[in-house]
Amino acid sequence: MTHDESRALYDRALSVLAGGVNSSVRASMPYPFFVENGDGAYVIDADGNRYLDYVMGYGPLLYGHDLPEPVEAAVQSHASSGPMYGAPTEVEVDLAEFVARHVPSVEMLRFVNSGTEATVSAVRLARAYTGRDKIVVMQGGYHGAQESTLVEGDRESTQPSSPGIPDSFAEHTITVPFNDADTAADVFENHGHDIAAVLTEPILGNMGVVMPVDGYHETLRELCDEYGSLLIFDEVITGFRVGGLGCAQSELGVTPDLTTLGKIVGGGFPVGAIGGRAEIVEQFTPGGDVFQSGTFSGHPVTMAAGLETLRYAAENDVYDHVDALGEQLRAGITDVLAERAPEYTVVGTGSIFKTIFTRDGRDGADHCEAGCRQREDCPNYNACPKTGADVAAAETNRWERVFWQEMKDHGIFLTANQYESQFVSYAHTKKDIQRTIDAYQDAL
Ligand SMILES: *Cc1c(COP(=O)(O)O)cnc(C)c1O
Repeated sequence: MTHDESRALYDRALSVLAGGVNSSVRASMPYPFFVENGDGAYVIDADGNRYLDYVMGYGPLLYGHDLPEPVEAAVQSHASSGPMYGAPTEVEVDLAEFVARHVPSVEMLRFVNSGTEATVSAVRLARAYTGRDKIVVMQGGYHGAQESTLVEGDRESTQPSSPGIPDSFAEHTITVPFNDADTAADVFENHGHDIAAVLTEPILGNMGVVMPVDGYHETLRELCDEYGSLLIFDEVITGFRVGGLGCAQSELGVTPDLTTLGKIVGGGFPVGAIGGRAEIVEQFTPGGDVFQSGTFSGHPVTMAAGLETLRYAAENDVYDHVDALGEQLRAGITDVLAERAPEYTVVGTGSIFKTIFTRDGRDGADHCEAGCRQREDCPNYNACPKTGADVAAAETNRWERVFWQEMKDHGIFLTANQYESQFVSYAHTKKDIQRTIDAYQDAL
C-alpha cells in the first residue's frame, strides 16, 4: 500500500487549508488519505487503495457510497432543474411531513444546513420560549461548533473549551455527567427556575458510544416538567440511525420537547433541522419573533435526497439489514476481546459500534454479547463507561497511533480517534463483517 499521492495532496493542502483539512477530525496521523471515490461500502483513495469504510461520512451515509436509484434520480433532477431559488418548494413540505409523521416529538420543524446550526437555533428557541438563559449539557456530549456548548468543567465551574469564546457564554451553561440522575436533580434544585433546557444526545455518540442507564432520560424528562424547562434531544447522529424512522426517542420511549436532526435526514448533503411541539417551533420568525434564517436552508437538492433516503428506508429492509450486521460485528469483536483484550469494552447499538480501550479488568461471565447495554445485573456494569470522562480515561493513544493505523493497513477505515462512532451501512455484507472481525483479531 503506497500513499504518495495522498501525501503530496496533503502537502499542498497544508499551504492553503487550515491544518490541511476542513474539519478537524479528518487530519489523521501522519497524514490523511485523500478519497478519490466511493464504491458501495468501500472508499478508494488517491493512490488506488481500497478501504472497507465504517466512517460513512461520520454518520450521514446510511446506504454507503452508492445511493439507491430513487435517491440518485431525485438529486439529479433537482440539481438540473436549478439548484435553489430563495422561494419555497414542495419537496421541503414533503420531507417535513414525513419527519413529523414518524418522529414522536416532532409536530413542526425548521430545516437548516448543519447539525451545528440546528443546536444553535434550538438553544435560542428554548431560551426565548422559557425566558431563561441557562442550559444544562452533558460532559463529553457534542452539539457541533457552537459557543454555548463548547465547554468543559463541572457543575460548579464551566469554562469555554476553545480559545475565542468569551467566558460569559459558559456562564450560562452547566455541565453534568451523563447518566448521573442525582447530579441532575441537584442542579435543578439549585438552578431549576433559571434553566431554559437540558440539551443531551439520547446516546452519547461522539464520545465513544455511551448508552443511557435505565431511567436516566425519564429523570431528565420529569425534572424538566417539574421546573418548566425544555428537554432537547440532539439526535443529529442517532436520528434515523437508532430506532429506525422513529429515531432513538421512539426506542427509549421518552419524548423530548425539541429534537435536533442532521446527518442522515439530508441523505448525504449538508443539513440540520429543529423539530418539536408546534407551539414552540412556531416561535421562529416569521411566525414568531425568535430570529432564524438561512440562504441555503431547505435546499431542494438536500430535501430531495433526504426524502428519498427516508422513503427508501420505509419501503425496504434497511434497518433490519444494518442492525443485524451491527449485531454480528459487535458480537464478533466481543469474542475477539475475550481472548485478546478482556479489559476493553464493545459499545454501540443498531448499526453503530465502537471498541473503547478501557483499562479496568473485567469478568467474562454473563456479560452483554453484542455491546454494552448498561444492564445492572451484568458483572461488568461498573466497568462499562457511563460518562464522557470514563471514555476519556481509556487508552486513546493506543487507538490513534497503533490500532487505527493497523486497521488501515488491513484495508479497514475506522474513525481516527477513540471517540467518534463507527457505522455499518446498507452496502456492507456479512462477508465484510467477518473480514473486519478477522482484522480486529490481528490488530488487537
Ligand atoms: C455531528 C453532530 C453535530 C454537528 O453537526 P454538523 O452538521 O457537523 O454541524 C451535532 N450534534 C451531534 C450529536 C452530532 O453528532
